[in-house]
Amino acid sequence: MARGPRSVPTGKSKRAGKPTAKARPKLAVWKFASCDGCQLSLLDCEDELLALAGRLEIAHFLEASRAVVKGPYDLSLVEGSISTPEDVERIRRVRRLSKHLVTIGACATAGGIQALRNFQEVKEFLSIVYATPDYISTLATSTPISAHVKVDFELRGCPIDKRQLLEVIGAFLYGRRPQTPPHSVCLECKRRGTVCVMVAQGTPCLGPVTHAGCGALCPAYARGCYGCFGPMETPNTRALSEQWLKLGATDDELVRVFRTFNAEAGPFRTAGEAHEKR
Ligand code: SF4
Ligand code: SF4
Repeated sequence: MARGPRSVPTGKSKRAGKPTAKARPKLAVWKFASCDGCQLSLLDCEDELLALAGRLEIAHFLEASRAVVKGPYDLSLVEGSISTPEDVERIRRVRRLSKHLVTIGACATAGGIQALRNFQEVKEFLSIVYATPDYISTLATSTPISAHVKVDFELRGCPIDKRQLLEVIGAFLYGRRPQTPPHSVCLECKRRGTVCVMVAQGTPCLGPVTHAGCGALCPAYARGCYGCFGPMETPNTRALSEQWLKLGATDDELVRVFRTFNAEAGPFRTAGEAHEKR
């Protein structure tokens, strides 16, 4: 479960009466199995990046620079899922090096699109995709980071929302709990005055069970939400599935929508399995 930080470095000297130049907390960004889109959300903070770099030392961020400052790190942002034996070892090393570890995006928090392998035979995929499958070393599953190491906070989305990312980094800088809303996309539709696409147009939408954060982007363009921010807290997937069936969706379609981006997120996994068995 996502938790707030216990403490953050202040840069103050431990020896009373001897103030030192304030050291900036060290930030590291790590990539596992992913498309890099969530790391790009950090680079996309164009107006805020300089201020951020003034408060944090960006010590390890290979997407942006080959220059690396050695750990340990005060805050690690981790993108991507665990899908190879090397990943398992590497995420343990990252955890040892990191005072706080935050996972960013659907891959890191719920296995990502690549978690679709968890419901099939990986060896079959290998023989279809690769000319020489013997060269490929992979796990049978793609799993979230929290399945392997302790995670201090999970930020959802595919990709994540940059305003939420800045909120989370700010919270860790100031030693407070990140304020990311626990409610569904529906509330964001109401706030921006978007007419409900499911009620008004009969368009199937996962908004009622999906975590807020995108600003209800898809319904604003008259299309249903397909759940890229993963499940909200205590989602009623059963009631929503019944509504989808009334609108003409099939069980197969429900399996597919619950497994698109966040297949390993508990409530979506359970909902997908329920419709697979029917
Ligand atoms: S969560 Fe989506 S945007 Fe982020 S790395 Fe994974 S696939 Fe890319
Ligand atoms: S409306 Fe749904 S699918 Fe669209 S961006 Fe938001 S969470 Fe993702």
